[in-house]
Amino acid sequence: MSRRLEPGDHIYCKRKGGLYDHHGIYVGDYMVIHLQGKAKKSGPLPPCQICGNKRVINGEIAKVCIDCFLEGETLEIYDYGVPVLTFTIRRSGTCSRRHSKPPYEVIQTAIDFLQGKRSARYDMLINNCEDFAIFCKTGSKGSAQVSGVLVATSVIAAASLICPATGLALAGNYVLSKFLRR
Ligand SMILES: [Zn+2]
Repeated sequence: MSRRLEPGDHIYCKRKGGLYDHHGIYVGDYMVIHLQGKAKKSGPLPPCQICGNKRVINGEIAKVCIDCFLEGETLEIYDYGVPVLTFTIRRSGTCSRRHSKPPYEVIQTAIDFLQGKRSARYDMLINNCEDFAIFCKTGSKGSAQVSGVLVATSVIAAASLICPATGLALAGNYVLSKFLRR
């Protein structure tokens, strides 16, 4: 983690030993609002002494404590408004070029989903936990992964025009970050 956790932050952690990441919005008071995986929808969540009393579930949107969210994995913060080169080098699904809304708006959007004022599935066509968190942060879904590839490709292309060796190095970095660090 590169900085202190603040309410309104988009956080994520590994799942299934790094096979994929799970995302949510930290709303303060040690609690996280997230779009749960389908597997958890059917059964009740296991008892937790920290969030047991505060746990709220609306469909697939749930409010749980950080411990329940992390399931023993390391907490990471998803950064917004990062410079293009940082965005190119970092693994996709860990940061965005787009800017975050003010924290109180981010938290309010997450609460609206939790309270059923917004519907992730039908109103916003949000399909996964990352979409949900990005929507809360920016007000639109966007696809970080797709735009990441497009931005990276254009940066590499631009660098290649100026200096083929730089372009190659950037491409190498990008490929490494895409496939080895995942
Ligand atoms: Zn808990």
